[in-house]
Amino acid sequence: MAKPTDQITIALSKGRILKETLPLFAAAGIEPLEDIHRSRKLIFETTRPDVRFIHIRATDVPTYVEYGVADLGVAGKDVLMEHGADEMYELLDLDIARCRLMTARLVDAEPVLGRMKVATKFVNVAKRYFAEQGRQVDVIKLYGGMELAPIMKLADCIVDIVDTGNTLKANGLMAEEHIADISSRLVASRLALKLKDERLNPIVEDLSRAVAERRKARA
Ligand code: AMP
Repeated sequence: MAKPTDQITIALSKGRILKETLPLFAAAGIEPLEDIHRSRKLIFETTRPDVRFIHIRATDVPTYVEYGVADLGVAGKDVLMEHGADEMYELLDLDIARCRLMTARLVDAEPVLGRMKVATKFVNVAKRYFAEQGRQVDVIKLYGGMELAPIMKLADCIVDIVDTGNTLKANGLMAEEHIADISSRLVASRLALKLKDERLNPIVEDLSRAVAERRKARA
């Protein structure tokens, strides 16, 4: 068996992305030896002795990859945009967990005079987006339930992820401006690409094939 330090470490995001990520890795011949969904463990050996998964919060994936502790990682484009991705490369659009990052406001919102208050957990993305538009805003950081902020008059609008739009609708909000199309991406640390390039390439190619096949099957 490979020594732990020789292993390729792949950081997987907890939550909704995981269910769609695992079949892609399975198609690439890499499967966890235990059921990740049922276990409370954070490190999982796989069917390939030289590859292990770590199972962490989506927002922590870029950090592990950027420091080169994980060689590869899977994270939503929203998370990568918010984190900034200087020390890593985006290798592949995995075409899973598709959604949009949008601004949204109350359906019956009054026009905003003066500085707009924006509630979001995507503080950096929101600041960048409105600065590019030349609009002055105050960004208020929240950790969840963004839809509540305009209802309670904490903010004039929100920046959040929209999939079906049902959550917005249920709270009397409507999506307004499209900021970015989101899906999960495979990222690699600069360090890993320098040191383990030859070992990582076949994994990336297998995943790329699995993504293409999945796309074909859905078409
Ligand atoms: P929906 O009601 O279908 O528009 O889903 C909106 C909520 O689901 C958002 O507030 C997000 O928290 C969450 N969500 C939907 N799709 C994703 C995704 N691909 N990644 C992360 N969160 C998502």
